[in-house]
Amino acid sequence: MRLDVMCLGCGKILENDDGKLLCKDELSHLVGVGEKTFRCVRCDQELIAPTEDMLCYDCWQRVKKGEVFLKDSQAIFFYRGVGRELYQLAKFEGNKRALLDIQQRAREVLQKRDFFPEVDVVTLVPSHWYTLLRRGYSPVEWFWSPWFPNVVRDVLVRRWTAKNQKKLRREERLRMVRDQFIVKRKDLVVGKRVLVLDDVYTTGSTLEEVARVLRLAGAQSVQARVIFRD
Ligand SMILES: [Zn+2]
Ligand SMILES: [Zn+2]
Repeated sequence: MRLDVMCLGCGKILENDDGKLLCKDELSHLVGVGEKTFRCVRCDQELIAPTEDMLCYDCWQRVKKGEVFLKDSQAIFFYRGVGRELYQLAKFEGNKRALLDIQQRAREVLQKRDFFPEVDVVTLVPSHWYTLLRRGYSPVEWFWSPWFPNVVRDVLVRRWTAKNQKKLRREERLRMVRDQFIVKRKDLVVGKRVLVLDDVYTTGSTLEEVARVLRLAGAQSVQARVIFRD
């Protein structure tokens, strides 16, 4: 007996059960960053109109204040709609199959983009050990594994997790994020161009802090690549 597997989005029966959750139509709604709009050169934020330096307001403020440690951060998709739902399934309900759909669409989107920079070390924003234990796996590492099978895991250590940063005021956010990360393996980053992988870029506070500690530890440059831009 064969069980029919339905598309999670529209309920249509999926023709071949290859582990995916969505039909092709549904998956095409996952829109890649930069397919249609102008975007900030530092963080992939959508710009309504092009600006002189092609920076969004947040990045422009950071640059003005000299708080710039991250060279740039690029995202594959915007964090909305079906992509967001799939990723939340993977992250909060441990559904790894949801990541297969995102990966498939990511391959298509990235074919048309010059996305991966030349670097010396690839690492990721680590989860707190307790978060990892609770989830049983790292969705970030799992997602990026086809592109980076040998990501260096133990460059950084996360001492705690700052929640719901979007709801905090800027000063509170900075305080929550500050000193959250420790560079455990300075020897791996001194003089190196480092690429940091993560899942969602929301305010940029986390990646900016990661970049700050890596640069302090002697990294030559720090860039980020994320699955989603919120
Ligand atoms: Zn469907
Ligand atoms: Zn920006």
